[in-house]
Amino acid sequence: MGCEEFEVLLNGYIDGELKDPDLKRVEEHLAGCPHCRKLVRDYRRLKEVTTEMRFKEPPQDIWNSYWQRIFHRITRGAGWVFFLVGVVAVAGFAIYEFATDPAVEALQKLIVFAIFVGLGLLLISVIWERVKASKTDKYKEIER
Ligand SMILES: [Zn+2]
Repeated sequence: MGCEEFEVLLNGYIDGELKDPDLKRVEEHLAGCPHCRKLVRDYRRLKEVTTEMRFKEPPQDIWNSYWQRIFHRITRGAGWVFFLVGVVAVAGFAIYEFATDPAVEALQKLIVFAIFVGLGLLLISVIWERVKASKTDKYKEIER
């Protein structure tokens, strides 16, 4: 057997699929050919590496951090929603109490009302900016 014929049978030999008489002839060739022995070693190493790569991909910690990032984003978003709902409820309740308190003068009520309206508008504009920024943020998916 020559080296060219061996190289044709190389894959089958490494996968253990060769049967006699091919197997016997391949082993005879290997016994007398350092070049093809090296070829077998290289192919086996390559196979090991690719097998390991298959087992390692995807590495578990990449999956973990992927789910962690999603989890963080969801909890952060939910946290903000709950916080804002709470703030709005408390503010609304306080405004209602204040506005219906007969001991407070109408002018004072108007001034405090103006302050709350101003704060509300500022809050809305900040949220609006955030929403717009997150829509155009190209690096949103990249961890900071
Ligand atoms: Zn050879």
